[in-house]
Amino acid sequence: RVLPSEPKRIGDCCSVTSERRKNTMDIHEYQAKDVLSNFGVTIAPGALAYSPEQAAYRARELGGDSWVVKAQVHAGGRGKAGGVKLCQSDQEIQAACEDMFGKKLVTHQTGPQGKGIYRVYVEAAVPIEREIYLGLVLDRSSQRVMIVASQEGGMEIEDISVEKPDSIVRSTVEPAVGLQEFQAREISFALGIEPPLVQQMVRTLKGCYRAFRDLDATMVEINPLVITGDGRILALDAKMTFDDNALFRHPQISELRDKSQEDPRESRAADRGLSYVGLDGNIGCIVNGAGLAMATMDTIKLAGGEPANFLDIGGGATPERVAKAFRLVMSDQNVQAVLVNIFAGINRCDWVAEGVVQALKEVQIDVPVVVRLAGTNVQEGQRILAQSGLPIIRATTLMEAAERAVGAWSNDLKQATRVRAVQ
Ligand code: ADP
Ligand code: MG
Repeated sequence: RVLPSEPKRIGDCCSVTSERRKNTMDIHEYQAKDVLSNFGVTIAPGALAYSPEQAAYRARELGGDSWVVKAQVHAGGRGKAGGVKLCQSDQEIQAACEDMFGKKLVTHQTGPQGKGIYRVYVEAAVPIEREIYLGLVLDRSSQRVMIVASQEGGMEIEDISVEKPDSIVRSTVEPAVGLQEFQAREISFALGIEPPLVQQMVRTLKGCYRAFRDLDATMVEINPLVITGDGRILALDAKMTFDDNALFRHPQISELRDKSQEDPRESRAADRGLSYVGLDGNIGCIVNGAGLAMATMDTIKLAGGEPANFLDIGGGATPERVAKAFRLVMSDQNVQAVLVNIFAGINRCDWVAEGVVQALKEVQIDVPVVVRLAGTNVQEGQRILAQSGLPIIRATTLMEAAERAVGAWSNDLKQATRVRAVQ
């Protein structure tokens, strides 16, 4: 998640897409806890279960007389959505699990479609005295890892920054030396940690920083980090995301991927070597390069439309690759118009045009298709489109392309321009 401290840039569309851009991998709470505990962060005893019976069995193994059953989904806000339940008996654990397994949990972070619950984490219930917020993020302006913390744990950082902005402590880490003891102590004092607990807090902070750095994380969030009645500091929740591009260096982390939690459209694209981002509008976008994708999204919004997704075909895309991209974009039920926007440097407009023609001949496409080509071999590309005999709407500038795409689906009179598949 993008922290509110981060400046919003170039229109709201850009910030939405950069938040949603999938160049990171999320893991579950129980996995993040396991990772962090290997770096010296203390957690409560807990175990994973795949069925209500197994959950009750796990609780008996853990011992004690109260437990918390926690739905494992890639999203926060589970507590308020019924995904975290305090239980005091076998029966309560089974009943809590019956309500979770196989259901979709909808929290403010999942989107309306929710995320499927296929595993739960059973954890010993902890007597909480204080809840602290602790997050580590990449701060783009200082180009450093930034530690963000607050005494107002349990609340989301977005709410803290609105309701209790003064409670937020921020501290950036100098990468050449890492998180220093004095710096960790300063953060602890700013959070009002009692002197006997400062050493534990320093260990927690240093552990989180080392996990972040050593594993190429993009975010670590412990909310809440709690202080218990008996003077322990425990990570009661944990969230980590990792940089996709660095996963090759951490096979033990890439194994933690859980595709059941990802947008199926995005994982299908990733499996085909294409990078795809699903959004909520109805104009499908095929572009080359993330920067052009951002500009395309913004221009669609400026023209009064909403992007349904964007698919980046990358550089040097062959006609086959473009056709594959088309099929993926069209598999999104929300798509009511397609905008192809290519600025060809390494790419070739003629190949892109061939790919578009190939896809339109193969796939049943009954929505308007707008194509804007610029750059290498543009004339050849235009000729291929024109000679195909397909009712492709062509545009010269990006603004014109966006207006045509938005106009094409919003204006029923333009029905005539709809492309019918030529089998
Ligand atoms: P989410 O952030 O998705 O809502 P959390 O793991 O933060 O999920 O749990 C929500 C709340 O439930 C926490 O703020 C904490 O108050 C409580 N909670 C979570 N785990 C435990 C536990 N083991 N013992 C006692 N309370 C817990
Ligand atoms: Mg939480």
